[in-house]
Amino acid sequence: MDIQEKWQEVLDDLINQVTAISYDMFIKKLIPIEIKDGKLYLKAGNSMTKQIVNNSYSFLISEALEQHFGLDEFEILDPAEYEDYIKVYEDKLKTQEKKPNPFNPKYTFENFVVGKSNQFVYSAVRSVAESPGTRFNPLFIHGGVGLGKTHLLHAIGNYILEHSPNLKVLYVTCEKFTNDYLETLQDSSKKIGQFREKYRNVDVLMVDDIQFISAKKATQEEFFHTFNDLYQNNKQIIISSDRPPKEISTLEERLVSRFSMGLIQDIQQPDFETRYVILQKKAQMENISIDNEAMAYIAENVVTNIRELEGVLSKTSFLTQLLGRNRSTVEDAKEALKNVAIEDKSRLTVEKIISEVCVYYNLTREDIIGSKRNKEIADARHICIYLISELLNMPLATIGREIFGRDHTTIMHARNKITDSLGVNERITQDVNNLKQKLQ
Ligand code: ADP
Ligand code: MG
Repeated sequence: MDIQEKWQEVLDDLINQVTAISYDMFIKKLIPIEIKDGKLYLKAGNSMTKQIVNNSYSFLISEALEQHFGLDEFEILDPAEYEDYIKVYEDKLKTQEKKPNPFNPKYTFENFVVGKSNQFVYSAVRSVAESPGTRFNPLFIHGGVGLGKTHLLHAIGNYILEHSPNLKVLYVTCEKFTNDYLETLQDSSKKIGQFREKYRNVDVLMVDDIQFISAKKATQEEFFHTFNDLYQNNKQIIISSDRPPKEISTLEERLVSRFSMGLIQDIQQPDFETRYVILQKKAQMENISIDNEAMAYIAENVVTNIRELEGVLSKTSFLTQLLGRNRSTVEDAKEALKNVAIEDKSRLTVEKIISEVCVYYNLTREDIIGSKRNKEIADARHICIYLISELLNMPLATIGREIFGRDHTTIMHARNKITDSLGVNERITQDVNNLKQKLQ
């Protein structure tokens, strides 16, 4: 029975024991709040009511409480006390609230399949999760897209949250770090102190996809100091990237050398066996029913990217369901893979645009991305920027930061140069049209 109902029983008792006017003015207006530590808390509409009830009716109330609640203590709060009471209560609730787990619960060590391609990185990551800040600091892991870097970083987070819940772990993508920092600079209400408190007052900092670090001096400067601060205090730093530090063109030399102070470990492409086990595991986790032969077929044909491996498995299972069957066969896998191949071919990417421009002008990727200034190369670079912006609808800031390591005004300038030349400069117009045709 809930507290309100029981209180009603108390009232039903009291109504016969006090005058009608006292009942209406005082007793009836008490509101039960909660029972805590063997005591019923009641709220009164004003402090006079509280005083009168305490002076004249406390004995009656205690008796009735004893009978209906099995306790005889109570406390009446006037409105001001009630406010305080609630506030303490709310604060307590807040601190009791469990911090939400910021990590993907599926990305655990248990769900990570270890094979030849990733055994070294796995043991490094595992060791760091078990005793952060003691060995391998910083830990820099790198490997191609979809090979499990983000999975491993989340696994560290999940592990520490479970085994050392009092350690502060912060995971951010490089993009988030950059945006946080830029927002702090732009918005005067946001304090740099708060930013630093957030990034430096941690036991473990993980930055995912550091290759996207902006070429902007200020951001790298801030990151450099964050790094030093943590490092000097023996806090663990873990960085991921799609390539080794030396190959990140935007990365300042001093950061490259900082990263080299710890362990740099790569994840390689998984071999057939690992791919097969990953499929088995995934099928099991997702309750996908599939023939071994079908899994082998997928594992044989999707070799470079585990995310894609999982994608093909899902597609296969989806296709099987569409066909009204409940177990995927190798035929389904073949069909699914065919669709993926077609989608892949038609999907335009930054890399495709860059490589098409390289072929067209007989230049290298380095020429296009780099900073050589001779006219032929600069024109090709501007056209490349124009095409990326136009065909992929990619924001200029993103193109600048993630591809060329320049700020967005430089990128805008390049794009505008081409826009202004179209229909005016015959050669550029011709080149743009030819390239567009090839790409679409
Ligand atoms: P990256 O960050 O390197 O691009 P992710 O960590 O996002 O790659 O991995 C892509 C997908 O592949 C995720 O769903 C992840 O769980 C899965 N994956 C990668 N490596 C493994 C592995 N060794 N075992 C199980 N799943 C893996
Ligand atoms: Mg990732």
